[in-house]
Amino acid sequence: MIKSIVIIGAGLAGATAARALRAQGYQGRIHLVGEELHAAYDRPCLSKGALTGTIAEPPMILDADWYVSADIDLYTGTRVISIDGDNRQVHFEFGEILNYDRLLLATGANARRLAITGSDLAGIFTLRSRNDSQVLKQSLGLGRSLVIIGGGLIGCEVATTAIKAGVNVTILEAGDELLLRVLGRRTGSWCRNELERSGVRIELNTQVSHFEGEGHVKAVVCADGRRIEADTVLVSIGSEPADELARSAGILCARGVVVDATGASSCPGVFAAGDVAAWPVESGPPRSLETYLNSVMQAETVATAMLGTATPAVQVSTSWTEIAGHRIQMIGNIEGPGEIVLRGSFDNGQPLVLFRVFDGRVEAATAINTPKDFSIATRMLANRTPVSTEELQDVSHNLRSLLKPEVMTLV
Ligand code: NAD
Repeated sequence: MIKSIVIIGAGLAGATAARALRAQGYQGRIHLVGEELHAAYDRPCLSKGALTGTIAEPPMILDADWYVSADIDLYTGTRVISIDGDNRQVHFEFGEILNYDRLLLATGANARRLAITGSDLAGIFTLRSRNDSQVLKQSLGLGRSLVIIGGGLIGCEVATTAIKAGVNVTILEAGDELLLRVLGRRTGSWCRNELERSGVRIELNTQVSHFEGEGHVKAVVCADGRRIEADTVLVSIGSEPADELARSAGILCARGVVVDATGASSCPGVFAAGDVAAWPVESGPPRSLETYLNSVMQAETVATAMLGTATPAVQVSTSWTEIAGHRIQMIGNIEGPGEIVLRGSFDNGQPLVLFRVFDGRVEAATAINTPKDFSIATRMLANRTPVSTEELQDVSHNLRSLLKPEVMTLV
């Protein structure tokens, strides 16, 4: 009988798992342990409203009252320093020990850093926590100069926010396009144009050599010798799964804790979910999905598996972003095999959907400013709906009707 579940990491995945365990009727102890001083809060606003101040505090994932009413032992500002998988124990920083029947690793990920000269100067930031967002916010004012290193999701979202606040923004991207990891080349290129139109300066194929300044950063120097003045620098060059605890406990890791499609790791009784988990995906080796929605799905799957009724859930990456005033939603790998079918055009400012179609089925989709079409595309993926290029492209043809069985037979 399961009497004690310990969850390390009190962020989105940890809190979601705790809620799912209670929702499924588990009545034993739940110890939810987090390093941050706050219980789980919403991170998507950290690069948007929380940075401009339109959102005073990031919303909490669960009300403070919920933890009390659900009888959760919540430890904030608390570090676990090791896991003893043989004896099913976790050890805390100050010597306490907790026994577990099931353990969930939901430790998330850390921002990658640049190990170059000047990295320790004041004014150079990463963005992961609410504290990071608060500190960065104080450095962004009218007429200030922000250099963003890395043109991925954080870089482009912060650029969007900062340019609106009257900051001079430059993005330095090492690759030959922005946002390649999540949006692929066509949408990445369109986002670059949109950001440039809003006033953001963008330099592709650019490596940073070092930072200049005395005490505080003054400039970013590129490998080709260019020098870009900056009073604030944001390093947003990706994240690394926070899997140190698992690795030192001998649990199999490969850029994250390697788990099966129920979240079970190589160590009996130990599970992982969220950014720290290298989870089976629809194609390719298991990997950390690094998205909000996948973290929630994984946490719910793990809760079920911990209680003995596992329902394996191979993940399809799904997320959203807001860049240069556009809401972009994506599901699946848009750069995979097959053809890209456009419903709409990048050129006319109207809503647009890109579908990746392979073997008559939608395998991935990106929707720009059209949440309704995105939800239909998501259902097409889930249902493996047969589709034709002509119908997908035809904006006069209602997309929803393609889901109907009578239309499907015509395809
Ligand atoms: P990212 O992977 O989205 O982008 C990193 C970018 O940095 C890439 O374009 C990469 O080519 C570039 N890069 C890498 N090394 C570089 C270097 N040395 N110099 C210049 N460019 C370099 O990662 P991120 O934007 O840092 O975001 C971190 C994490 O936060 C990710 O897990 C991301 O999914 C998550 N996040 C998600 C959202 C969202 O879903 N909307 C928003 C913000 C953050």
